[in-house]
Amino acid sequence: MKDCTGSECLSTTPLGDAAPPQRADSCGFNRRSFLRLAVLGSGALLVPCDLLEALEIPTASNAANPVLPASAALRPLAPGAVRADGWLAGWLGKQADGLGYHLPDTSWPFSAPYWQGQEVNGQSEEWWPWEQKAYWIDGATRLALVTGDERLLRRVQEPLEYTLAHQRPEGYLGPDVIRNPAGNFHRWPQTLFIRALAADADAIRSDAAQRDAIVEAVRKHYLGDLASYGVPIRNITNVEDMLWCYERTGDPRLLAMAETAWADYAALGGKEDGADLQADRVFANTPIDAHGVSYAEIAKQPAILYMYTGRLEYLNFALAAQKRIFDHHMLIDGIPSTSEHYSTVTALDSHETCDITDHTWSWGYMMMATGNGLWGDRVERACFNAGMGAIKKDWKGVQYFSCPNQFLATQTSDHNAMNLGHQMMSYQPNPGHATACCGGDVHRLFPNYVIRMWMRDTQGGLAAALYGPCRVNTTAGKDHHPIEIVETTDYPFDEQIHFTLDMRKPVEFPLSLRIPGWCAQPSLLLNGQAQPLPAAKNRFVTLARKFHPGDTVTLVLPMSTAVSRWPDNGAGLERGPLVYSLPIKEQWTPVIEPRWSTADFPSWNAEPASVWNYGLAVDPAKLADEVRFERKAMTPDPWVDPPVSLIAPAQIIESWKLATVPAKPDAAADAPQQHLTPPLPSADARRAAGPEQQVTLVPYGSTHLRLTIFPRLGGGTAGYADATG
Ligand SMILES: [Zn+2]
Repeated sequence: MKDCTGSECLSTTPLGDAAPPQRADSCGFNRRSFLRLAVLGSGALLVPCDLLEALEIPTASNAANPVLPASAALRPLAPGAVRADGWLAGWLGKQADGLGYHLPDTSWPFSAPYWQGQEVNGQSEEWWPWEQKAYWIDGATRLALVTGDERLLRRVQEPLEYTLAHQRPEGYLGPDVIRNPAGNFHRWPQTLFIRALAADADAIRSDAAQRDAIVEAVRKHYLGDLASYGVPIRNITNVEDMLWCYERTGDPRLLAMAETAWADYAALGGKEDGADLQADRVFANTPIDAHGVSYAEIAKQPAILYMYTGRLEYLNFALAAQKRIFDHHMLIDGIPSTSEHYSTVTALDSHETCDITDHTWSWGYMMMATGNGLWGDRVERACFNAGMGAIKKDWKGVQYFSCPNQFLATQTSDHNAMNLGHQMMSYQPNPGHATACCGGDVHRLFPNYVIRMWMRDTQGGLAAALYGPCRVNTTAGKDHHPIEIVETTDYPFDEQIHFTLDMRKPVEFPLSLRIPGWCAQPSLLLNGQAQPLPAAKNRFVTLARKFHPGDTVTLVLPMSTAVSRWPDNGAGLERGPLVYSLPIKEQWTPVIEPRWSTADFPSWNAEPASVWNYGLAVDPAKLADEVRFERKAMTPDPWVDPPVSLIAPAQIIESWKLATVPAKPDAAADAPQQHLTPPLPSADARRAAGPEQQVTLVPYGSTHLRLTIFPRLGGGTAGYADATG
């Protein structure tokens, strides 16, 4: 860090300075002086600062030696410290009013009392309903904590309180059906459920007694468990929760348990669980031959271990494991081809919605471990494109598989090998039916985005890690002074992000702002005056200065249009963090399926009601001339009525039609064929394209049916961007 004591000095402060493991100091992070954020939220900023210094992730007050993840470059804030504003608040509000609250009213297994009494009524089946309900419990808990939705919070507190109240004497938390440590997946549901407990414990609204009760219950659960955590198949994912508990208790047995589990897992080499995490294959950067969720959830564990141990071999393994995803499997919308195994990147390759939630969850940890804003770029791209694009914009349905190219999404249009011709691409409350993971897991996606928008660095500073309209109430500086930063922006629909700082007195601290990799010419204003941009490190610039109450910082991130090439002569357009698609008008038909949907929350068939069979007639060398960007005033709901668009030259390919396959045996007699989204057309078909016309493209995330990977008609092979992140 540059020597900089002057109040107006701008300098860079490195994120990511590794340090050996250390105990928390006694002046704040581990103090039990913990106040509800309501104090700050009510505007009562005159609370003595020594009482507010622990407005961060808290620790169990009865633990003697809580620890910090000393090698983490960035640390998360407590759930509830960041509150969404603007379009982001509107989006979360729709989630909370829609399936966020009502999923248990619409579909099994969410309607059954898993984690809430099903344990004792003799109807426990296998592990999977426990997994699926736990996904929703975690997501809905986080949603309630970041929105302050009390009704939702009461609903999700019930399974949390039930499970804590029914902890077995030896410590076990969870259903009897998997208590005996045998068989695959037998501790995977606990990984997910304990995430919900962790969020609840860490939340700024929780009091010390609640927090201590949860932390101690989790410690007792792990220390009393006879299960092996290093064996196939997903038991190893509990390392994440073990280390969460280790941080808050300082109990060395938890760290030892986590490290032993990883050592045992590594000794097996990932050969027995199909996660393809053998070290020789990871470091050889081979394509991944594994299930998407298993790989995403397991591959991040060493990055978490690194944060608590400083052992670089953990971090290097995690980085190498991630590199394979981006080098071999990344789709244009920011999520790898995973339906459900990693696959190729053609226009028909898609992803399971769990892979959107779980990869972004993992990349958040990668950002904490490395301090590199690259991971923020990746989380934004995935959330704004793949994430938004898989969810019905009224938050009443979600896809199990979603794809950059999906010209229809019906109960019979799944074009993936898994369940070909079945319902998994239609928008439904529970799109997988009995395979109900995605319907639960999707609820974690945007609450986790909000929780991680701001993080704390190792210098008492704050980092804007993910952008969007929000406000953060936390502390900054050496004396942990309370501060509110209001982030006003229409990003990603606008290029300007305004930060307004509010605190009682001037505070000196480093404020780090992420500079996305797609932005060539960022600029910065301080109190309206242009400032030289500090040199970026790890895709962050840092203002290390004494900030005064009312100071404003404006970051301008100019976006430019880029075109990328894809297999089979495909091409796609993007601008900044947003991918653009031709929207296809939907003909919606509701379908009520007993057990899976209701009249209030039906499943939906969406069939194409507008022309979609266009090729893109763009010469990448003349992109600036041929593709026009248009912006109108910000709209109340930009994911329904987007304020930005691209106007691009296109030509109709007349012979490019929906694919057809023989109907399933149980199909209606008048439906002898099923329609599917087709692959890109042949060279002959493209040569017969019609006259050029202009088409309007909108952000991928605002569409339900879309053409994103276009048949490439334009001349030239130079000028294409790498869109793989
Ligand atoms: Zn899923």
